[in-house]
Amino acid sequence: MNNKAMYALSYGLFVLCARRGEKDNGCITNTAIQVTTTPNRIVVAINKDNYTHDMVRESGRFTLSVLSEEAKFDLFQRFGFQSGRDVDKFAGFEGHTARDGAGVRYVTLGTSAWLSCRVVSATDLGTHTLFLADVEDGDVLSQAPSATYSYYQAHIKPRPAAAAPAQGSKRRWVCKVCGYVYEGEELPADFICPICKHPASDFELLE
Ligand code: FE
Repeated sequence: MNNKAMYALSYGLFVLCARRGEKDNGCITNTAIQVTTTPNRIVVAINKDNYTHDMVRESGRFTLSVLSEEAKFDLFQRFGFQSGRDVDKFAGFEGHTARDGAGVRYVTLGTSAWLSCRVVSATDLGTHTLFLADVEDGDVLSQAPSATYSYYQAHIKPRPAAAAPAQGSKRRWVCKVCGYVYEGEELPADFICPICKHPASDFELLE
């Protein structure tokens, strides 16, 4: 099996938000697709380690904000590179959000549309839960094209600094997720990206 075959799959990018009590949270996901039109249903797969996962599981509701090509990298940092267990991801960002009829926030900045979803079923996938949901409400927010994962990689994620060549025996590795560059003689096998927290396996050597 050539695992690179999996990279050929195309994905969108979304902020998935949930609410539990007075707590709002959201995370970046690329696993949302419409599966039927009558009724209008989507599926999303959420990693069980995500704080948002438990909020969706318990509340049975979530919103999807469809990210557009106008979304800036700091939006991905805000919702993707930190945990709602540690921070309030909406702090200072409330003005770029609104709430659906059930009171769940969605993002209005850098988004092409939002959807309000009610969970119909949850399937245990091991690391993730697959939620099937009815789309109950939603609207278009922008005519900007929706961002694909490929677009994010090519145009939104910062490019590694075109810095001077590494000195002496040093080499450079770039995080394929966020663009952080590590410089050294060898990338430690247990290295964790300081920005996005992805492991060494998500780095590639810069030629
Ligand atoms: Fe990273």
